Amino acid sequence: MFYMFDSLYLMLLGPPMLLAMWATFKVKTAFRKAKKIRVSSGMSGAEAAAHILERSGLYHVAIEPTNGFLSDHYDPRKKVLRLSPEVYQGRSIAAVGIAAHEVGHALQDQAAYSPLALRNAIVPMAGFGSNASFMIFILGMFMQIPFLMVAAIVLFSAVVVFQLVNLPVEFNASSRARALLVDTGVIRPEEDRAVGKVLNAAAMTYVAGTLTAIATLIYYILRSGLLGGRD
Ligand SMILES: [Zn+2]
Repeated sequence: MFYMFDSLYLMLLGPPMLLAMWATFKVKTAFRKAKKIRVSSGMSGAEAAAHILERSGLYHVAIEPTNGFLSDHYDPRKKVLRLSPEVYQGRSIAAVGIAAHEVGHALQDQAAYSPLALRNAIVPMAGFGSNASFMIFILGMFMQIPFLMVAAIVLFSAVVVFQLVNLPVEFNASSRARALLVDTGVIRPEEDRAVGKVLNAAAMTYVAGTLTAIATLIYYILRSGLLGGRD
């Protein structure tokens, strides 16, 4: 519980956490607005994804509906594009924009785009690091075992690397998506601006996530006292 009253923690993590909240709010607002704009081609997110995949020669990628709000993702292991109900069925700028973004990840996978391969390779350690580092750090701090604190810092570094590698992956998927939507005739060029608003808002959440991870790592390093001067 001391964590909550730690002024260093609040000082470092407060700003990126506020940014993350703001970004989440922006995504929801942008999505809600773009959901109301019907796409001129009349395609649903699933139809748009199928169309772009076919035009790109990715016949082996399946498209499935999945539950959850904005839970859309591409599964590189099973080569499946999973779209949330609103994106799968929706015939809006928001639906085709998000569907195309996920196709962008499938194309990255097909092209063996190296940041994606690197991101996927870091996933297991980053997942473990984000779950375990806090407990290990606290244990190390209370029991005065520097090795544990260093271990937590190393583990959490994987989270930071993951977030940093994730940024070009996400930005690249969105830029591929926007070009593909126009090139394959899913949207008209003048509809690109509205698509951009949704995808840029989504990108902001990744930027906020990265800043939060960096701030957390700095917090661990300063709190460990490894640089001297622990207060
Ligand atoms: Zn993405």
